[in-house]
This record gives sequence, structure tokens and C-alpha cells, in this order.
Amino acid sequence: MKFDLTITIKLSSDASHLKEELDEFMKDMEINADVEWKIEDDNLILHILSTERRSHEWALRLYKKLAAFFGKRKIGLREMHVERYEIEFELEREALKEVTIPFADVKFDGKTARMIIVDKGEEFIRQNYVDRMIRRIKEKVEQQYYEGKKEYWQLLWKSEEKQPVWNKDPSEEMQKRGWIVLLGKGKWFYRPQVAAIMRAMERIALEKVVLPLGFKEVIEPMHVSFDTWLRTGHLEGMPGEIYYICEPKSRDEKQWERFIDLVKITREVPEDELLKNLKPPREGVVYAQCPNIYASMKGKTIADESLPLLLFEHYVPSDRYESGGKHGIERVDEFHRIEVVYIGTKEQLLELREKLIERYKHVFNSILDLEWRMARVTPFYMQQAGMLGMEESDAKGTIDFEAWLPYRGDRSKEWLEFQNISIVGDKYTKAFNIKGQKEELWSGCSGIGLERWMVSFLAQKGLDPDAWPDSFKKYLPEIPEGPKFL
Ligand code: ATP
Ligand code: ZN
Ligand code: MG
Repeated sequence: MKFDLTITIKLSSDASHLKEELDEFMKDMEINADVEWKIEDDNLILHILSTERRSHEWALRLYKKLAAFFGKRKIGLREMHVERYEIEFELEREALKEVTIPFADVKFDGKTARMIIVDKGEEFIRQNYVDRMIRRIKEKVEQQYYEGKKEYWQLLWKSEEKQPVWNKDPSEEMQKRGWIVLLGKGKWFYRPQVAAIMRAMERIALEKVVLPLGFKEVIEPMHVSFDTWLRTGHLEGMPGEIYYICEPKSRDEKQWERFIDLVKITREVPEDELLKNLKPPREGVVYAQCPNIYASMKGKTIADESLPLLLFEHYVPSDRYESGGKHGIERVDEFHRIEVVYIGTKEQLLELREKLIERYKHVFNSILDLEWRMARVTPFYMQQAGMLGMEESDAKGTIDFEAWLPYRGDRSKEWLEFQNISIVGDKYTKAFNIKGQKEELWSGCSGIGLERWMVSFLAQKGLDPDAWPDSFKKYLPEIPEGPKFL
């Protein structure tokens, strides 16, 4: 690592006459870096070359000492200015192509990366962005190796093959029959027939998995603050999938007068006028329920007797901007999930995961009678050898549950993830500063996608209850009638 920084410190008056005294003073400075200095009128120019501690940290330290030195001589120190800051660091592997980041130019020479920052104000040094910029460049280079690669996928278990009763697309069929109605992009209205099927799925999940394991219901807001998503990483992970929420600037009708006039006259929504009346977003619609659950316990120490803490939420829908990827009711912009969240010691969570899997298995084998499988999946950025030790990667991570969709074709490849189970280690307990009395707490969640359960079942078992397994019919003996239209 090499940190090569040139800064100018503005002085309240010309200090050229202090050159010798300053030389003396600087000699006694205990700094583990090469420092050069000169005074040009009312500017003090420092050049700091360091290979260990970052040069800007030395600059901050020097600034304090120099303020005392000049203060005694009736000269004040004004702001610092970064003239040039060149940082050299080593990469794990060579970059495959150029990388850009804010605040700096980036150049590569083999495995050496060089980040050049010029002409920045004092706040740049004080905010200490440099480490995060280095990390970001390393991350971007690593990502180049995984571009286009899918996540790592390893089969854990699969059911026997089951003969599907049909091979149609349930969403298309239900739309034809008027059971579901598309209301805006990726948002469906479920008429009584489908609402009943989805509620039956939900009852099964609650009665056979969630409640018997001791999960207790919580109800959370539909809005998630940026503070929460900064902690969970959603804002850096999937900013393009979030539905953002804007508050009005005011509820005063006067402020909205022109907007109202335009609506009344044009019968359209005047976009520019609307935007003028909105604040920039500071929150978004729930993407998954767990972040708000963690946020509700920010900074808390959980009593041993409450561990493992088992909670579930099934009140708010999840919204995601899926853009072009939408299909039927299995990939929608608004969907309904039960999310269970567990917080406890590592041992407690490993035990719980086994129990969850056992109960899920019972549901998918003996109630829904699905052809399904479980796979361990690892996001590309964690695949790199050494990121996770073997033991680590067994404990932490995600298991996807997938079902075969006969309408899509061959069972060798046409599978849909309908839910998952994750243990994320201390990622979120750390991020929200949630502690145990003695032991470090881990956490995890399992998202039960009700649309996905429904599609998996209907794609294999059809829309006719006569062909459904009796074990499911117990939960929904018949499909209710919907409204008739002329
Ligand atoms: P995918 O890879 O299919 O986009 P994901 O990895 O984004 O899924 P998670 O964030 O892990 O999904 O969400 C957990 C569960 O939420 C999924 O297993 C699925 O049941 C459900 N889910 C996610 N996205 C959608 C969607 N667009 N429509 C319906 N259900 C969804
Ligand atoms: Zn979650
Ligand atoms: Mg997704």
C-alpha cells in the first residue's frame, strides 16, 4: 500500500518568516511517514508519503499540532484542501477491464491498482471515504470474474417424480376463467376462487409449520426507512428493485391548488406539478419483511429466556420492481409471503433449521404432494474459495426449495424457487446491534411465498379439485364461486 497525499492548509496570514521555526518543529514530530512541507505566503503545503497508516490520518494529526504551533504565533489555520491523493494497493487478481468509482480516477497495472483523487475539500479527509473506496474497487474487480455466472447450486434432496395432471400455465388459465385480474404492471387482483386457494396455502403453512414450532405473530409497517435498508444492505444490493415512497411536501390544499385545477380540467395527472409537491423518498415499500423486524429490536439485548426468538409476519405484502422478468402470478411486483425470523445462538438456529425442514418436507410430500427439491445456493460473491470455510458455509447460507413447473417443459431444468431458508450468521444482529446476555447471536429467516406455493401446486395438480390430493382438499374442499358477468 502506498498513500501519497499533497494538501494545502490555508493560513490566516503570510507565514514565510516562520520557515526555520517550522523546520525545527517538524523535526520533533513523531510520524511514521515521509513528510515534506513548505510555506508559500499564506499557504502551508504538506506532502505525506506513507506505506502503513493512511496519509490523510497523518494529515489530521499534523493539523492539530500545527494549529497549536501557528496559534502561539498568532496565525490561525483555515481549511485543508486535498491537491492530490494517490493511493496504490494490491488486488487479489488482475482486473479484466476498467473500473470507475466516484471521487477518483482508477488505473490498473497488473495486480496493482492506483486511485487518484484530486482537488477535494477538507470534508473528504474527515469523512474517511478512502477505505470504502478501496473496498469498492476490490469488489468491482472481483465481480468482473463472476459476471453472467449464476449462483452456485448444489442439490441436497429431491422427491420422487410425480405425474402431473396437466401441463398448462395456471396463471394463463386462471386469467381466462376470470379468477385473477391484472391490475397494473405485475399486480394481480385475486377473485374469491384464488383468494381461497391462497388462504388455504397460508393455513397449511401456519398450522403445519409456523405455529407448531412456536413462532409468534408480529405486525409491521409497510414502509421501510432508508436507515433500516442502509443497515441490511438492501440499498446497495437491489436499489433497482425497490418501490420508493414519497411524502407530500405539504397537506395544505393551497399548495395543491394548481395540481387540483389541472386534474379537474385535463382529467390527467400533471406529472411535473405532482413532482413539485413531493419530497424526495426517504423510505420504500417492504421488499422482505425481516428488515423491519430487526429494526424493531435495534440496540436491544435479548434475555436468554426469550431465545431462540421466533417471530413471523404475514400482514404486509412485499413489493419488488421485477421489470421485464414478470410472469403470471409466479413473478409479480407485489406478492404475499409469510416470513419467519429466528434469532438465537448458532446451535439453536441449526437445530431450528432441521425442524423447519422436517415440517416443510411433511407439507410438500404429504399435503401438497409436490415434485420438489432442496438445494444449497451460494451467491456468486461468496463462492470464491476462502470466503467461507467449509464449516462456516454449512452453518450459514441459503437453502432454496424448488418445484417442477410442467407447463414450462422438461423436468431437467424448469424449476421454480417457491421458498427458502437462510441463516445469515451475525450479519443482521451486528447491523442492528442486537445482543444476547452471554453469547453472540445469529439470525436467519425463511420466506414462504404464497403465490409461489400456489403456482407450484396448481402447475402440477391443475385447477380441478377432483384431481387434487385429499390431503389438500381437507383445507379447501371446493373452490368458491366468483361473480358472474354478462
Ligand atoms: P428470485 O430468484 O426468484 O427472484 P429471490 O431470490 O429474489 O427470488 P428472495 O428474496 O429469496 O427471492 O425471496 C424469498 C421468497 O419470496 C421466494 O422464495 C419466493 O417465494 C418469493 N418471491 C420473491 N420474489 C418474488 C416475486 N417477484 N413474485 C412472487 N414471489 C416472489
Ligand atoms: Zn428475510
Ligand atoms: Mg428476485
